[in-house]
Amino acid sequence: MSDCIFCKIASGEINASIVYQDDEVVAFNDLNPQAPTHVLVIPRKHVSRISELEEADAALAGRLILTANQIVRDLGLVEAGYRLVLNCNEGAGQSVWHVHLHLLGGRTFGWPPG
Ligand code: AMP
Repeated sequence: MSDCIFCKIASGEINASIVYQDDEVVAFNDLNPQAPTHVLVIPRKHVSRISELEEADAALAGRLILTANQIVRDLGLVEAGYRLVLNCNEGAGQSVWHVHLHLLGGRTFGWPPG
């Protein structure tokens, strides 16, 4: 998608603080962090929202979580706890229209989320 900011980050057209990337996914620090660690994990493939993921995307969806888990392990955050968040549509707070998994860590989180 030519006008998608996260596609531009994935392609390198726009700079981001990238913490991991491979053929399928890219992970980078959130510009407006909500926790000491706030990383976004995105698929390189453009999908606007998680409700549009299909059966064929099952492995890719799993890859987002496994990538986040690896980053958390590398940062030593597993024991302390961390949160993975997927916002879908405006009502849930989605503001960028390219699937992204929020990885939040480094502080205590309340429940229910706001
Ligand atoms: P959401 O509200 O779930 O769609 O999350 C979008 C996230 O993208 C927000 O946490 C923003 O701070 C973050 N964000 C937007 N633009 C950028 C960017 N260029 N680089 C890094 N994070 C961004």
